[in-house]
Amino acid sequence: MVDEETQGLESIESWIPRTKIGKDVLEGKITSIDEIFERGEKIKEPEIVDKLLKLKTEIIWIGGSPGKGGGIKRTPTRRTARMHRSGRRYKISSLVVVGNEDGYVGVGRSVGTTHQIAIEKAIKKAKLNIIPVLRGCGSWRCRCNELHSIKRKTEGKAGSVRIVLMPAPRGSGLVCSEELKKLFMLAGIKDILTKSFGKTKTRFNHVLAAFDALKKLNASR
Ligand SMILES: [Zn+2]
Repeated sequence: MVDEETQGLESIESWIPRTKIGKDVLEGKITSIDEIFERGEKIKEPEIVDKLLKLKTEIIWIGGSPGKGGGIKRTPTRRTARMHRSGRRYKISSLVVVGNEDGYVGVGRSVGTTHQIAIEKAIKKAKLNIIPVLRGCGSWRCRCNELHSIKRKTEGKAGSVRIVLMPAPRGSGLVCSEELKKLFMLAGIKDILTKSFGKTKTRFNHVLAAFDALKKLNASR
């Protein structure tokens, strides 16, 4: 019997495609993810992305509980409890970034009953959310024409957080929080400037807003 929660988490070796695109990818008729994006088709199986891109995964540390002697002890997942007739019920949330460090990145969020299930489900979602990143050298101070930054300024939103991403000259590095660095590194961006507004301490929305900004870059391709 397949557990509903772990369904779809089978390994790539045992993949039996359920969609036309999936079959084409497995049979080698589609060899590049750009072919799928160009057709404007939606990817419905994470294995498609695994076959076409060599992905790395980063977990965004969204959890935290007050530690001994003050401060916040960071954790990769966030646990929230709600009361139930039979006692406390816990829900584990996670946020994951996948990318090939060369122009493709995806973000996925999920909940599960355990830490591992929450993360695995988020990885699967991140793969389905993968997007091409419009990189370039958008900085007038640089003009090197290489893909080290983003092509132009872009903005994104998630919850109360708004973020502005700006092209930066070569050697500037990633001027942002540690969690956002994970997103940009996996996207293959080396130099960027960021400006955030709103409750930027909520890491969840901070990363989602930056991903939204990268998506919007594509809309004006
Ligand atoms: Zn440049």
